[in-house]
Amino acid sequence: MRDPWALLARLEANMRARAAARQERERHPELYVPKAERPACGARCRDGHPCRAPAVWDAKRGRLRNLRCRMHGGLSTGPRTAEGKARSIEGARKGAAARWYRWRDGRASTGG
Ligand SMILES: [Zn+2]
Repeated sequence: MRDPWALLARLEANMRARAAARQERERHPELYVPKAERPACGARCRDGHPCRAPAVWDAKRGRLRNLRCRMHGGLSTGPRTAEGKARSIEGARKGAAARWYRWRDGRASTGG
């Protein structure tokens, strides 16, 4: 994004969104869970340990978004287009099939 005015507009939109989230939090304090009390993200970090960052809080809905931190998909909106949703479902299907084959082959090799 090279247009400085577009950058400024984005910055302003971000500030408005943050202000709206803050207002929402003040309006419904009973729905708010402080960062320290949110569950850890748990994604596998590059060095292998589970991520300990707090999961992203959805201020609008007053609940956790998807149990992931802001670095591990917590801010993701997920697939939005029909094409993207189809791609996501296809990927999940392939992953499930691959896990099943690994499970089956693992059982066969150990004889159990
Ligand atoms: Zn994380």
